[in-house]
Amino acid sequence: MHPSLHSLLQLQQMDQKIFETRHNLTRIPIEIDKMQRQLKEEQETIARNKKELFQIDLSIKELEEEIAGLKSKVNQYKYQQLTTRKNEEYQALSHQIENANLKISTLEDKILELLDKKEKVSTTFRELESKFHSYSREINKRIENLLTQKKSFEKNLEQLIEERKNYASRFDPQLLKTYQSIAASKPGSAIVAVIEESCGGCHMKMTKQRCLKVKSSEELVFCEYCGRILFFAE
Ligand SMILES: [Zn+2]
Repeated sequence: MHPSLHSLLQLQQMDQKIFETRHNLTRIPIEIDKMQRQLKEEQETIARNKKELFQIDLSIKELEEEIAGLKSKVNQYKYQQLTTRKNEEYQALSHQIENANLKISTLEDKILELLDKKEKVSTTFRELESKFHSYSREINKRIENLLTQKKSFEKNLEQLIEERKNYASRFDPQLLKTYQSIAASKPGSAIVAVIEESCGGCHMKMTKQRCLKVKSSEELVFCEYCGRILFFAE
């Protein structure tokens, strides 16, 4: 292997670590954001359930008031029946009492339906709420862990950058410049192994002559297609 290649590969490995750490650092806030949005969605579902329960109670109350109104009317009609002497009026009142009682019975059925619905929504609400408690605890714990991870990645990154800087300062400036210009467009794969007489980066077949040149390690050999630095894995 060409003498510079060992240190170049070492540098590339350092760059890869820096790249991975940066990637992890950008991934963490996205993950946290996703989890917070999930929590918010759950909270909104619970709030919708609560609102529905409130609406049901309100409807029941309205129906009960309507029934009370009808019942007092029935009493009124009954009292009128006691005081009237006209047969026609008596019968008309009977008819009104009958109608009012029918309406009361319909409204009572509606209340029963609503109570049934309330029972179902309440069950869902209780389930959602109890799930939310454990779910939010778990999510908050995960967020806390991610924040701890983030701190350690940040610390790690600082160290890696410092180490890389020190290591790179020992390089021949021209060689460093060449490596960096390739790495800029091919991060993590500026230096690649020759695999079955092909470039390990772009996979183009190489000439026998170029392969021998890489093997001989007398000079740095670049892929004629993609410009990567080539080496022979020994
Ligand atoms: Zn290539």
